[in-house]
Amino acid sequence: MGNKIARTGLVEKCGVVGAASGNLEHTPKYLYYGLYALQHRGQEAAGIAVWNKDVRCHKGLGLVSHIFSNDILSNLAGNRGIGHTYYSIKLSVPENAQPHIVKTHVGDIAIAHNGIIVNSEELKSSLMKEGHVFVLGSEEEAMAYILARGIKDSGNVWRAIYGMMRKIKGSYALTIMINDRVFGVRDPYGIKPLCVGELDGGYGIASESVVFDVLGGRFLYDILPGEVVEITEDGVERRRFFEVEHTAHCFFEYVYFARADSVLDGREVYSVRRQIGRVLADEHPANADVVIPVPDSGRAQAYGFSEKSGIPIAEGLMKNRYSQRTFIMPTQLQRELSVRAKLNVVRSVVDGARVVLVDDSIVRGTTMRKIVRMLRKAGAKEVHVRIGSPPIIAPCYFGIDMTTRDQLIASGRTIDEIRRIIGADSLNYISVDGLVKAIGVDRNDLCLGCVTAEYPMNIPGEKHRFQERLDQFI
Ligand code: SF4
Repeated sequence: MGNKIARTGLVEKCGVVGAASGNLEHTPKYLYYGLYALQHRGQEAAGIAVWNKDVRCHKGLGLVSHIFSNDILSNLAGNRGIGHTYYSIKLSVPENAQPHIVKTHVGDIAIAHNGIIVNSEELKSSLMKEGHVFVLGSEEEAMAYILARGIKDSGNVWRAIYGMMRKIKGSYALTIMINDRVFGVRDPYGIKPLCVGELDGGYGIASESVVFDVLGGRFLYDILPGEVVEITEDGVERRRFFEVEHTAHCFFEYVYFARADSVLDGREVYSVRRQIGRVLADEHPANADVVIPVPDSGRAQAYGFSEKSGIPIAEGLMKNRYSQRTFIMPTQLQRELSVRAKLNVVRSVVDGARVVLVDDSIVRGTTMRKIVRMLRKAGAKEVHVRIGSPPIIAPCYFGIDMTTRDQLIASGRTIDEIRRIIGADSLNYISVDGLVKAIGVDRNDLCLGCVTAEYPMNIPGEKHRFQERLDQFI
């Protein structure tokens, strides 16, 4: 493929929504509460764009509830719309928040994107050579130009989306509004989740099924890898443009990113996490008095571990409920401070106990080291750490904030070396096979790139797994 990968800064993990309803007032509220339900997917910025004779948009930095007020939502009345919640903006200015709106010769195109386009630099430079002027310089702007050209050439929006999907390579779950039409687009590997649901008086698209629970609607189905849907207030039209032999659903969605009450590609996230805990207890038992979850990310796994091992579970760590997730804070300093601000030990649970501490993953190790230290300070006799994902040894190229190997504590280190760094008495991770078994999806249909260093598509300098390359099947 030979693509140059644009990875100069932090990359995104986001949530997207789309809605079409017969009620002008309902649509922005669906989008707002949809984004609110997806707040865990991004806390740095959010935006909503609606269609009401022309496109209207409001975006800002911060939490969804801080960006939008009733007055703002009233000004966003419209039948169709899309929204986005962002977790890390390279330059912290609201203009970089999504949806990105591009005025084109075929009308207004608004795009909300979860994922990363690995050949975006190549696409942008060829579009610039053709005379396109980039205002934001984003890959979403590039997609909009490609779409506009496709619509002009073919006169058909579906064909234009198909043409865009042939050109872009990487991970993408998109909601797109082209004038008054709203589409959902999922990449051929299905790396990022995207689903469709029914709403009172309309239909919606969202990164996770939980949105439809929150909106009082009904989750209908996952958008299939390589599929495009169009929603209106009356129904959903589906067209599948690509079908690969093996998909590559991001396993980390099940382990950490998605809300536990979501159902992704047919699997309830909470059940998967609990099963991971059971498998972990089977693979790596511990002699201990109490199982303590790292809240909230390790809770379901800890319940599974306790269930299988027979060791009682207790809330030995309390989380400040107003804190943000540390993994997705954009700078190291913020991450460090936020660990101390967000967790505290319940001394009566820990004092004199042999503790099994269960979490979903260790990325940089900063949080885990501090937690182990806090537990010891509170009187824990032993701390045995059990992790519900295999060691993260390689970067993610598909939109998750793990960009270089030197950020990853497990890259180039043995498990015993990591154990010593975090200060635990023992440390064990679930095996890749155990994880796959717990998720219940064929191993060949998961992306396991960051734990196996084998990626579902060709990444320069990395191994790609057996299957066909994206640029070979299109
Ligand atoms: S590399 Fe890891 S985090 Fe990135 S998409 Fe694949 S499994 Fe998910």
